[in-house]
Amino acid sequence: MPDIGAISAGISSIKVAIDIAKELKGATSAIKDAEVKLKIAELLEAMAEVKIQLVEAQDENLELKQTIKELKSALSKQDEVVFRDGYYYLSEPQDGKPDGPFCSNCFTTKNLVSLLTEVTGTFRSFGRYKCPSCEQRFGK
Ligand SMILES: [Zn+2]
Repeated sequence: MPDIGAISAGISSIKVAIDIAKELKGATSAIKDAEVKLKIAELLEAMAEVKIQLVEAQDENLELKQTIKELKSALSKQDEVVFRDGYYYLSEPQDGKPDGPFCSNCFTTKNLVSLLTEVTGTFRSFGRYKCPSCEQRFGK
């Protein structure tokens, strides 16, 4: 991920470009064609640097937006569930949907709301519930 330095580098490059443009503007007619061409070449180089740094800053901005989106999603899920007796449950039950219990391992490590399934038969001795996602067993 590019660091925030892309923006400062871009600002420095644009300052160089502006200085060159000022020199050209203030140049008298006595300035030789060759000198003008050299200054224009320097100007173009500085502008190319700015373009690269802006692209880096844009990439960084997109990554930051994605991170904010993920964090917002994680935060909203924190409000949706409550922890009770070792399991997560929906804080507000929804019609037609089971309100839990959900896997505490998946919620803590992956922010995933995974409904635990009740184990029947001989496997029940390994735990009352099993997570279909991480396969951890809960409750004896
Ligand atoms: Zn799990």
